[in-house]
Amino acid sequence: MESTPLLLPLLDELLEARGRLEPADVAAAARAAGVPAARAWEAVRFYPRYHAKGERWLLVDEPVVRSRNFAELQDALEHAAASAGVAAGVVFSYGLEAVGPALVVERGPERRVYAPVSPEGLARLAAGGEPGPAAEELPRELARGEGLLFEPMAELPGFPGADELIEAVREAGLRGLGGALFPTWRKLAAVRQADGVKYVVVNGDESEPGNFKDRWLIEHNPRLVWAGAALAARAVGAGEIIFYVRGEYLSALARLEAARRELEAEGYLEGLATRTFRGGGLYICGEESALLESLEGRRAEPRLKPPYPAQEGLFGRPTLVSNVETLAHLALIARMGAAAYRRRAPKLFSISGDVARPGVYELALGTPLAAALEAAGAEVSGLQAVLLGGAAGTFVKLPDHADLPLDYDTPRQQGDSLGPGALMVYENGRDLWAVAEGVAAFFAHESCGKCFPCSLGTPHLHAAVARRERGPGLEELFLALEQGSLCGLGQAAPWAVRSLINRFGEVVS
Ligand code: SF4
Repeated sequence: MESTPLLLPLLDELLEARGRLEPADVAAAARAAGVPAARAWEAVRFYPRYHAKGERWLLVDEPVVRSRNFAELQDALEHAAASAGVAAGVVFSYGLEAVGPALVVERGPERRVYAPVSPEGLARLAAGGEPGPAAEELPRELARGEGLLFEPMAELPGFPGADELIEAVREAGLRGLGGALFPTWRKLAAVRQADGVKYVVVNGDESEPGNFKDRWLIEHNPRLVWAGAALAARAVGAGEIIFYVRGEYLSALARLEAARRELEAEGYLEGLATRTFRGGGLYICGEESALLESLEGRRAEPRLKPPYPAQEGLFGRPTLVSNVETLAHLALIARMGAAAYRRRAPKLFSISGDVARPGVYELALGTPLAAALEAAGAEVSGLQAVLLGGAAGTFVKLPDHADLPLDYDTPRQQGDSLGPGALMVYENGRDLWAVAEGVAAFFAHESCGKCFPCSLGTPHLHAAVARRERGPGLEELFLALEQGSLCGLGQAAPWAVRSLINRFGEVVS
């Protein structure tokens, strides 16, 4: 099957060849992709990597470092950068919460990532040295303890037939593990029912601060994810799989590409066109319809739904968009059967912050919060809160919610959500308002600008949290964001702040 040429990889190739893009390159990429030149220019202006200039040192802003020495590191960075004559700034979450604080050194289109960094490391950087250990990928050992999803599957599962597989996924109770928690079998069945050319798009754009379990899977068990994608493609009758990886994770992309070639040589992907795609490098690219827009070479802005991707997805064709962890589970289900899978009920959690052993944990769905924290070496009695789910999550109070089962439904009943499974842990004395301010800054920065409740509301929210406001006017802003925003980014922006006010109002200052 002939694959459609895609604009962003064509631009990337030209950028890599010369280190910059000339107008003739943009025109050539547009021609090769079969799109108008104006579309190519729009993409070049929209995606940050096509207009990177000069050298910049960027501190990674995420919810763990915000509770620690973020301000001190920012001061040290500004001082170091000024003395070296380099621009300084921040960049949001790199999936390194478990090993941070992290720093990105950008030189034109090239980036190097370091973690952990300290004020002393930043001074070393200014003197021409390295600011800390290189952190281009997550350490394999970050996966803690035993895990079905951690083991390389020696023999990949065969395809049991579409009906059998979809039924097994239904019986297993699998849901979308990127945070939406939508029953996976329903999506599979909807795409299967559609006619004509169909696609499977793997959403590996894990950009939600506090989450790094998909990144670990891509870097350290990519064969399992490809196996799940291949099984899903056969079940829905798709001829092509496109694996979309977060634009910043170059090492993950290389690992995935190597696994793809390996599986192709083994014949496991026979009859399927497959390719990897470097994502646009913006949080909004993880929203499934914005992701499809960026695959088509447009600005990554969410589409109005319906139609859903299962009806009209990539290039208007029925498309299964599925998260990395979800597909890894699908391969497990095909391998071990729904009943055995259900008994084990595995789920990955990204645990960071004030625990002795931050990392990726495979725990049974429904594990009580306190047990998950203890598994990571935390003393629950010394903790005040967990930011559950990620930046688009809520602060859960300890010890009040120590028994909260980490399953799909119980957190929702009390206004929380498991999201993709992040637990960012804060001991007594940490400044939760500083964390909320970072979260609000993140949403204001990442708003794509398509709808006004979010593009106007998120900067207001950030300013209000920076002032530590908690008056009644704030609830109106929360509602405007929640109810007026077009996509999940704006809708979720106030959740962390609201939960902080409602649950910790009397103790935070
Ligand atoms: Fe863009 Fe925000 Fe509107 Fe989503 S809610 S479409 S991110 S402006």
